Amino acid sequence: MIVHLHTAVSEAQASQIAAQIQALYFHDGQRYVLVTGAKDNSLEGVDSRLLEGHWIMDSDIQLASRKYMPQKRTVRIGDGITIGGDTDHTMMITGPCSVESLEQIEVCAQLCVEQGVKMLRAGAYKPRTSPYSFQGMGLEGLRLLDRMREKYQLKVITEVRDATHVEDVIAFADVIQIGAKAMYDQGILRRCASAGKPVLLKRGFGATLQEFVQAAEFMLSGGNSDIVLCERGIRTFETKTRFTLDLCGVAYLKEFTNLPVILDPSHAMGYAYGVADLARACTAMGVDGLLIESHPNPKVAKSDASQQLDHAEFRALMQSLHPIAAAVGRKMI
Ligand code: PEP
Ligand code: MN
Repeated sequence: MIVHLHTAVSEAQASQIAAQIQALYFHDGQRYVLVTGAKDNSLEGVDSRLLEGHWIMDSDIQLASRKYMPQKRTVRIGDGITIGGDTDHTMMITGPCSVESLEQIEVCAQLCVEQGVKMLRAGAYKPRTSPYSFQGMGLEGLRLLDRMREKYQLKVITEVRDATHVEDVIAFADVIQIGAKAMYDQGILRRCASAGKPVLLKRGFGATLQEFVQAAEFMLSGGNSDIVLCERGIRTFETKTRFTLDLCGVAYLKEFTNLPVILDPSHAMGYAYGVADLARACTAMGVDGLLIESHPNPKVAKSDASQQLDHAEFRALMQSLHPIAAAVGRKMI
């Protein structure tokens, strides 16, 4: 159950009511909001004069649900850029899997500027499947991304792998990416709830839609309303592609949640040859954004080499996406 308290209710009163009905609470900028488990919907003993409204929910997809907030949330990324809401933007995010050097990331930043892409992606802390693979440049990588932001006026999205560097990522990123493998990390989710920055939450490849959105609820219920969901493929019985992009799941998220949705066909496909076709299909679904891995020379990429588009392929892809976005009433930015 979600409960809105009257705007005049103080923090002390809110915390006392929250304890009484065993709720989490946060301030949404206008009032204190209390959230109990979906099945606990008793307001017995609470002074009704302190209440503004309440919603009884049928599952723990609560703050993220359209039942609670019928309109899609608008997520502001620094000054001037918004996704979701009624913006009708499909925001392109591109860049390499990992920051590898100044030279490499600079060419990537220049591609963004040339193509009108506002957000550069690249990981500095990589959650690799093998401990012997390249693990990312760490803090030095964050500093290189920071330089690109300054020099090219780009927004930067980069991922947090674990709790050891969450503060550094929060400090440097415009958007914090929580990767598929970190989706269940309670420490990261709870810390990002109060990060004061937008978060892109990727779906764990073994997570149901319910589990995925509940992970987002950890941050929403901690007071961070700027959460974007990212479908990046789930593991199925299929082995010819790296993962299976769950477009049915995307339709569900669009219908039943109020969170902007971004699609990542690169990690789903795992091979560059399919990424452009998938990106076009995703754009036709009218989603809020796309995340595409691109690299100046994918063959020598230190992570995810097989799936990254080279820059010529990326340019051709962008050309083809603009009319598709327009055909579904959106603008590719
Ligand atoms: C990435 O974006 O490079 C990445 C590691 O993605 P995921 O968490 O979806 O595997
Ligand atoms: Mn990657």
